[in-house]
Amino acid sequence: MSTSQTPEARQVAELVGASTGEAWLARYSDSLMGVFGTPQRVLVRGQGCYVWDADGKQYLDLLGGIAVNALGHAHPFVTSVISSQLATLGHVSNFFTSPTQVALAEKLLEITHAPAGSKVFFANSGTEANEAAFKLARRNGDGGRRTKIVALEGAFHGRTMGALALTAKKAYREPFAPLPGGVVHVPFGDLDALRAEVDETTQALFLEPIQGEAGVVPLPEGYLAEARRITREAGALLIVDEVQTGIGRTGSWLAIDGSGVVPDAVSLAKGLGGGFPIGALVTFGPENSALLSAGQHGTTFGGNPVATAAALATLHTIESQGLLGHVRSVGEHIAAALERLPEVTEVRGRGLLVGFDLAGPGGDATAVADDANLAGAVVNAALSAGFIVNAPGPRTIRLAPPLILTVEQADTFLAALPGLVEAAAAALKQKDPS
Ligand SMILES: *Cc1c(COP(=O)(O)O)cnc(C)c1O
Repeated sequence: MSTSQTPEARQVAELVGASTGEAWLARYSDSLMGVFGTPQRVLVRGQGCYVWDADGKQYLDLLGGIAVNALGHAHPFVTSVISSQLATLGHVSNFFTSPTQVALAEKLLEITHAPAGSKVFFANSGTEANEAAFKLARRNGDGGRRTKIVALEGAFHGRTMGALALTAKKAYREPFAPLPGGVVHVPFGDLDALRAEVDETTQALFLEPIQGEAGVVPLPEGYLAEARRITREAGALLIVDEVQTGIGRTGSWLAIDGSGVVPDAVSLAKGLGGGFPIGALVTFGPENSALLSAGQHGTTFGGNPVATAAALATLHTIESQGLLGHVRSVGEHIAAALERLPEVTEVRGRGLLVGFDLAGPGGDATAVADDANLAGAVVNAALSAGFIVNAPGPRTIRLAPPLILTVEQADTFLAALPGLVEAAAAALKQKDPS
């Protein structure tokens, strides 16, 4: 056990009992459903951009719980606001409201530059925010004339059945057929294909400004604005999924900021609660905001006092600490450093949502087999060296660290990366000497 345990960590350890990482993993596989495979480590504590595992090893967290821990771990202000709210009023159901719920809705309307008459629906996750968006889209029905929803190849919108219908990946979809119908996927970035598909029968188009799960792939320049023109002309809603890209991740509140595009709805989650589960759908303007009427949608936990207090504390901190500018400058530093490395063939993304593709060690693409999972091996080498990163594809690494990451912290990883690629290639060779 780590000797620098906090009183809070000690209290929880007493509740669950002490054990080693290996023992926890054995108990995990005997008690938890196998949908996530074997967890990489058993984590017991976090502070800022670092986490510690059950055996006391420290890691620099460059994934932030997949773009969730916007302010790192155990942020003092977020922690104290959550504790205060929980000690005051924790849950009330949506028969009632609470000051934090109203204040957060107002704050979201402000930071998304939503026009007068815009509204917010609160949920507990990204997939739930998109379920609400899916139902919103279905209400744009024109008396049965419209039945089609368009999404993009490569899209990830979540795992519940509606959001899954919007998600493109076959391996996620096919085991659960039939999914809610009427969803068509068009080739990514192809405006002609979009023009051909979006018509007077289309209810909505769903877009991610940067496809995170697909490997941090931004929409091509000009695509979003043209998609707005096409959807407006057809009377279809433009629904932007900012679950991963929103709340400062790309250096602005939303990734679409500065594009001049006003969407019909935006879904948010991941970073919104600073690590506490919360999702939201913002509907733009009075007409879109009236599509779902009383009784047509709901949730028990959504928008509860604790989650909305956590989000208020997170947004307040991002604002008061000037973190949007910080994200831009640290993000530019990381991208520039990656571009100088021979091991890296392409760098994508914006701010602190970074994806990069790997050549082999020292830039030697022939050093690893084409079908080898180099990025997966880099993830393992990084863990051994004390870094948490993620591989959304066999050649792609994704970084989505806390927005408070410093240049010095980033540099420790950037300096280690060539060695990690080398170690990964060596590990692959040992596994498959051919
Ligand atoms: C993660 C993600 C979701 C799903 O969010 P959950 O909270 O896991 O349900 C939806 N859309 C995008 C773009 C995401 O990155």
